[in-house]
Amino acid sequence: MSSFEGDGGLTWTLGAIKERNLALEGYCQTEGCGHFYVFKVDNLISGMGADYVVPEILPGAVCKECGGALKFKLAMMPPED
Ligand SMILES: [Zn+2]
Repeated sequence: MSSFEGDGGLTWTLGAIKERNLALEGYCQTEGCGHFYVFKVDNLISGMGADYVVPEILPGAVCKECGGALKFKLAMMPPED
């Protein structure tokens, strides 16, 4: 497993995520929905700053399908462009 998830002790800042070229994803926590969204780290940095520590549940970010909470997860950027 090459997971970047912690056990409730995430201390990733937006700057650290960008530095490692990781993608920030939000997974819907509603059972039976399971949509996920990819966030633009650059956009988040311009909004909240590179020192912003990303919480496990993203505040203000909700699933467009069901309005459920999105749980933060890091992923490798897809090797395109
Ligand atoms: Zn949902």
